[in-house]
Amino acid sequence: MLPVIALVGRPNVGKSTLFNYLTRSREALVADFPGLTRDRQYGRVKHGNRPCLVVDTGGIADDAQGIESVAREQVQIALEEADVIVFMVDAREGLSASDRAIAATVRKLAKPVILVTNKVDGIDASVAAFDFYALALGEPVLVAASHGRGVPELLERVNALLPPEQPIVEHDSKRDIAIAVVGRPNVGKSTLINRLLGEDRVIVYDEPGTTRDSIYIPFERNGKTYTLIDTAGMRRRSKVSEVIEKFSVIKSLQAIEKANVVIYLVDANEGITDQDAHLLGLVLEAGRALIIGLNKWDGLSQSQKETVKRHIEIKLAFLEFAEKHPISALHGSGVGKLFEVVHTLYDSAMVDMSTPVLTRILKEATTEHQPPMVHMRRIKLKYAHQGGRNPPVVIVHGTQTDALPISYKRYLTNYFRTKLHLSGTPIRVEFKSTA
Ligand code: GDP
Ligand code: GDP
Repeated sequence: MLPVIALVGRPNVGKSTLFNYLTRSREALVADFPGLTRDRQYGRVKHGNRPCLVVDTGGIADDAQGIESVAREQVQIALEEADVIVFMVDAREGLSASDRAIAATVRKLAKPVILVTNKVDGIDASVAAFDFYALALGEPVLVAASHGRGVPELLERVNALLPPEQPIVEHDSKRDIAIAVVGRPNVGKSTLINRLLGEDRVIVYDEPGTTRDSIYIPFERNGKTYTLIDTAGMRRRSKVSEVIEKFSVIKSLQAIEKANVVIYLVDANEGITDQDAHLLGLVLEAGRALIIGLNKWDGLSQSQKETVKRHIEIKLAFLEFAEKHPISALHGSGVGKLFEVVHTLYDSAMVDMSTPVLTRILKEATTEHQPPMVHMRRIKLKYAHQGGRNPPVVIVHGTQTDALPISYKRYLTNYFRTKLHLSGTPIRVEFKSTA
């Protein structure tokens, strides 16, 4: 499970500034993928090697003019699911009534809370912080989010409060393929899961879960084993109580994290909403192989189909690598083919790449297009080796690699992807300077 850190605090204390600072790698990602917009509410932060999910709850509430109930529900879920609450106050403004009100709410959650006093740049921080001891939330961490000051200390404090890390199980190719079915409510996730499992399968399940937990369903098909990660709560719904599952962004992200292949369903009648685009951006960030299932294809006329395809090309330009696959979960068309696609994508995501092959591809790429000169010396890229799987990571060693322009990095990334015949998975190319 990705640990969840929730940022709370009244408007203007600097939550989104801190969020941006913590999720900086996303900025690079956004720059790398034209058309990808930042999600200002959910992001990943890496402390050491442990990725965490950070949620700016203020962003969610502020955006909702007149406060939409959907947005408020997501704030509630984020608070319920948080492992650690980071409660931010403004050192310059001092303690306010709304700070006290938020403190009271936070205390009721009975979760680990870290008090953060922000904007301590250029003022006497210890004096400024004094006020906030009245909140009885312990020693505040003094931070200047806009400069990153105090953030390492904050992350240390967060880290100390997180649940212990589970050892990571390396996926090997003989294991189950983990498939997450993700998408907004009503796009057809449960219908698809029923299809994938086969209609006659008796589904019994009555373990209560939190809104963060998905259901893991192992199944077999043609001698191959899979685990379906169900974010829709389909099995729970089949119970007498018929509890309709709450949609939870955090749950979707947790499922994505656990998957080898993500089937992201959209309702082809509705197209791609902003929320879809943001979730898909996070699939990209997690580096998962991705099938975009265009569901309810049965209901569309020929001209509508053309329109939907065009719309998707434009909206999802940043997901050029993903497979787009029209299906009808209800009638079953396209569903059998999904398994083939899943296997192809899985093989790409888990590919083994040898150092000689990667180095040869690197040589070809640099011969076709030399890296630029920097400080009168040409950037040299010498060799490449594999740094990971799911997603495939290529590590390129050379000189002055810090100075490589984004355009050249993008060129190399595309070159590797093409030459390695990867389909449906993003690939990461990282650079290390040896001199
Ligand atoms: P939010 O409403 O809590 O998300 O607050 P923002 O992140 O939008 O910040 C509100 C204002 O405070 C902006 O003008 C920021 O530039 C400013 N701000 C944020 N962090 C700092 C800081 O560490 N020092 C100073 N001086 N200003 C900051
Ligand atoms: P979920 O909330 O994402 O799990 O969505 P459901 O599986 O509960 O489906 C929502 C509604 O869409 C139900 O009424 C389904 O019958 C309908 N539906 C699902 N798949 C299809 C499809 O391929 N075509 C059509 N026409 N309707 C579908």
